[in-house]
Amino acid sequence: MNLPKLAIAALGGTVSMQARNAGEGVIPTVSGETLLACVPQVTTLARVTVETLGLLPSASLNFEVLLSVLSWAKYQVEQGAAGVVITQGTDTLEETAVFFDYLWDRDEPLVLTGAMRSAQQAGADGPANLLDACRVALADNSRRRGVQVVMNGQIHQACSVRKTDSLALQAFSSPVFGPVGLLIEDVVRYLRQPTQRMCLPLPQHTTQKVALLEASLSADTLLLENILKLGYDGLVIAGFGAGHVSQKWAEVVEHIAEKIPVIIATRTGSGATARASYGFVGSEMDLIGKGAVMAGFLCPRKARILLWLLLGCQRQDELARYLNNDTCFQNQRSSVGAQLAGDER
Ligand code: ASP
Repeated sequence: MNLPKLAIAALGGTVSMQARNAGEGVIPTVSGETLLACVPQVTTLARVTVETLGLLPSASLNFEVLLSVLSWAKYQVEQGAAGVVITQGTDTLEETAVFFDYLWDRDEPLVLTGAMRSAQQAGADGPANLLDACRVALADNSRRRGVQVVMNGQIHQACSVRKTDSLALQAFSSPVFGPVGLLIEDVVRYLRQPTQRMCLPLPQHTTQKVALLEASLSADTLLLENILKLGYDGLVIAGFGAGHVSQKWAEVVEHIAEKIPVIIATRTGSGATARASYGFVGSEMDLIGKGAVMAGFLCPRKARILLWLLLGCQRQDELARYLNNDTCFQNQRSSVGAQLAGDER
């Protein structure tokens, strides 16, 4: 039988972690080849290319590393891979997913996965997640869905997925929207149709800096006041509630927004920012009037990545278009549960 090609890359993270000696903490040591050996079923589904592109805790990944992983993934597709799977740490999975998603202009699925339990723990979830991720990457109904995160039997869209628990096995969720699909008896089943995607070109430069600050009760303005002096090219604020800051912060935001793009997201962990509800100083209406842009459903961390990518290809003028359209969230609600879209059997 002519099996499809599948490319797998390991970047590190808990899925690759073991302790060198008893009593020591786990560190990334397990190669992609060894991870794959734990799920021999994959070789009955595809002809697999596996590489270890890094062995890092995901907190130490950076945009330059991600750009080289992206170019590796695109090369694999050019060489005929039907899909690509990347294993990495879960701590920054929600950010890498959206980073890749904005730049993944291919129809082939790019699937990210990891594990909450290290390779040496009883009930390690890495092998099951890897096998599920391979199934999703190979499924015809995963095409044209961009980048997806597969964890614990669920498929999440890059734009909405978040790590919402620090240690639990069920650590990932898509607040408001829920998972876009599930693996049911090893079959990839989608709950919604693919959304329209807005991809960006590769950044021409990578030195741009985007700060992310969180509003908090009675916070001073020291850091905020120094954002421009420190050379930042953009600012994201994880605001209170529906996208609010204090009166003191609002005054400083006005000056900053005259010079660099400022996005206001919600720090709540779920839901969208408002646009036309509150009128007090520091409210979303006030901040929009002062030149800030509201993030909509995009969480602060993902908004920072969008702004960094837009700055990198000099398309920051399109920020409002990217945020106001909420493109990746289109269709998410309308068809929830309405159908199991294009099921694979
Ligand atoms: N705890 C993390 C993980 O689940 C560590 C990391 O992100 O590298 O993989």
